[in-house]
Amino acid sequence: MIRLIMPADYHLHTPLCRHATGWPVDYAQRALALGLPEIGFSDHSPMPALFDDWRMLDEELPRYFAVVDEARAVCPGLPIRLGLEVDWLEGGQSWIEALSQRAPWDYLIGSVHYLGDWNFDNPAETARFSNYGIGEAWDRYWHLFAQAARSGFFDIMAHPDLVKKFKHRPPGDLARYYEPAVQACLDAGVAIEINTAGLFKPVAEIYPAPGFLRLAAAAGIPLTINSDAHAPEEVGRAFPEALALAAGCGFTQLARFQQRYRTLVPLD
Ligand code: ZN
Ligand code: FE
Ligand code: FE
Ligand code: ZN
Repeated sequence: MIRLIMPADYHLHTPLCRHATGWPVDYAQRALALGLPEIGFSDHSPMPALFDDWRMLDEELPRYFAVVDEARAVCPGLPIRLGLEVDWLEGGQSWIEALSQRAPWDYLIGSVHYLGDWNFDNPAETARFSNYGIGEAWDRYWHLFAQAARSGFFDIMAHPDLVKKFKHRPPGDLARYYEPAVQACLDAGVAIEINTAGLFKPVAEIYPAPGFLRLAAAAGIPLTINSDAHAPEEVGRAFPEALALAAGCGFTQLARFQQRYRTLVPLD
């Protein structure tokens, strides 16, 4: 008999980020219906000043804690963790340091969505790929990814090859990008995620590519499997595919987080 142990889904958003629907209680009820053992919220973190229009404001952090607590109250049988998806920006270290002190986070997820002032994964800003050049965008992206992993601020690195979102990929063996990124995660003791949202973006592939995952598994990088849900019906989306991908690339365990301590559970 095949016993499928579902992963925890640690990358869930809330309407506070202005581009998600459904409150944490709705995500939690969906997770219970799917049989997920645990979930966690990691909405887009506030910035010190008005920065873009797709994140909570700093003064909304207490509301974020309240809506996560509400889900915990409604679904007492489901462990619900508190995290944040934090943008890595060069020079942003002191803000991230301050943010990390503002709540008893279970984990912080580090994301690279910006190359300088360019929000490269925003569909409204894809024209800049042609100004920048695909090779230059990839070089810069992976440099920032490794820098973020090494920063020590994050427990999990998000959607590792997000730069492929709109199918922009340089020619040749992409291991030259993956190897330094995996090395940075290894050196810093940071986990990664398999993020299934990429399946539903123009690239129509899970993040990251199997080539990245094989290197990460061989290096012993801890793994999480997350949906990056921006709506309750997206919780746990494509998890059977993600589990098969993880196992096929050599992973045997999944990481769980509580109060920024990591534990490992068997993959099957
Ligand atoms: Zn989002
Ligand atoms: Fe993201
Ligand atoms: Fe996200
Ligand atoms: Zn994300």
